[in-house]
Amino acid sequence: MPATTITFVAPGEYSRALARLPKTPRDDVVVLLIESVQKGSALPWHRRKLVLVLSALRHFAAELIERGYRVDHRIAPSYRDGIVASAREHGSTRVVSTQGREWDIAEELAEARGQLAELGCELELHPDRGFFSTREDFAAWATGRKELRMEWFYRDRRRASGVLMEPDGKPTGGEWNYDAENRKPWPKGKPVPAPISFPPDAITQATMDQVAGWQGRWGRVEGFDLPVTRRQAKELLRHFVAERLDEFGPYEDAMVAGEHELLHSGLSSALNVGLLTPQEVVQAAEAAYRAGHASLASTEGFIRQILGWREFVYGYYWWAMPGLRTVNALEAKRSLPVWYWAPDGEQYGGTTAPQCEMNCLSDSVRQVRDQGRVHHIPRLMVQSNFATLLGVEPAALSIWFWAAFTDAYEWVELPNVMGMATWADGGAMASKPYVSSGAYIDRMSNHCAGCRYDVKKRTGPDACPFNYLYWDFIGRNADRFAEHPRMGMMVRQFGKLAADEREKIAQSAADFKARVP
Ligand code: SF4
Repeated sequence: MPATTITFVAPGEYSRALARLPKTPRDDVVVLLIESVQKGSALPWHRRKLVLVLSALRHFAAELIERGYRVDHRIAPSYRDGIVASAREHGSTRVVSTQGREWDIAEELAEARGQLAELGCELELHPDRGFFSTREDFAAWATGRKELRMEWFYRDRRRASGVLMEPDGKPTGGEWNYDAENRKPWPKGKPVPAPISFPPDAITQATMDQVAGWQGRWGRVEGFDLPVTRRQAKELLRHFVAERLDEFGPYEDAMVAGEHELLHSGLSSALNVGLLTPQEVVQAAEAAYRAGHASLASTEGFIRQILGWREFVYGYYWWAMPGLRTVNALEAKRSLPVWYWAPDGEQYGGTTAPQCEMNCLSDSVRQVRDQGRVHHIPRLMVQSNFATLLGVEPAALSIWFWAAFTDAYEWVELPNVMGMATWADGGAMASKPYVSSGAYIDRMSNHCAGCRYDVKKRTGPDACPFNYLYWDFIGRNADRFAEHPRMGMMVRQFGKLAADEREKIAQSAADFKARVP
């Protein structure tokens, strides 16, 4: 029988919690799930990311069929082509979809609209339910502001949602932010909790076998253990709230060699592929605090990641696109070091890169290569920090994050890279570039103890590269940051260094840059 309506399940909504489905199966509605060849080959995606997205989609298709829905699960050259072909084959007059979460998908939907119209079929777009706020909410908040800062948006969202708020309109505990309590390194000898894992079932295993053989992708599929169904994602959420949330806050910035997660939730991959809603994640954390099972500092710190940061970057992405892809305020031009793809001297791009001897960088990239993820501090303070100090073109770094992380999509990685990490947007979103010397990494990790470089030395062949690169960065950008409220002090400190020390810094940086593959 012809289906008058096609319901397209857009990427990022692969569960009944997110997808816009009729409550019960209907003969006149076909649910459309598309595996886009174009999307799957657009970047050298991490194979685990491909397994996650495809397995989540395939599990969802199987679940819908079991529940009696009419499902059109197809491989198509693009989302646009798949939507148009489905509407044509089913003789449909209406396609219902969520607005594309990423720019490219929104463009495909716009192109599909024209082609559908020729078939006498209309495209009906709805707001994305994967967030607390809409793009319009963000635009209304941002309009007229000189600076867009997460902290103010977060407070606004707390007020609007009532999360961690008291009846008198004040934040729970009296403060909006407990970050000052959340900056501890991981204590030596403290056991690292075992992560919960979800062994592959037949669908996931078949997807792993398929993806393992794809050329031009990165990383391995062996050991894939991410949740790929809503039931598994809810189990991961319960586990995090019960086992990790209470201590999450104090150690959220800590780094330990060989550990990609520590007390982080690992929920972002499931959240961003659409197996969980942010509302239920936040509610579970707040309920644990209200029941006395989690500290306020940890709960607030975790909720800020979801209700604050995740919402803020989504809104900012749509506020700043498409120009956000090409901003480059610091005029950084260098290509991304091969170490980001080959940290262990392995073959990459037809050549063999030298081993990366910086323990912090090689360890964190190894985690990404092997797991498809590492928590936010290695991303920000090692991987992004190093690239920014080196002068890597922000767009090249952005592509790496997008391709390499199982939880990364352009809407989330682009603002993080262009706005926060590299200051490529000139401070529209963050007050300063997130750069530091080796001292920060030494304080927050155990990487430096066994490193071939000396974190206490500022110059010379054995000095920690983060040290001379940091001061070289300050020197190169002295004019730009001389009057900057948060960077000006470092510029003045650089100016007080003896001329021969400044020369040694520049020479060490130049020597090192010449060796970076
Ligand atoms: Fe990283 Fe420098 Fe520490 Fe080595 S010494 S681990 S390069 S911060």
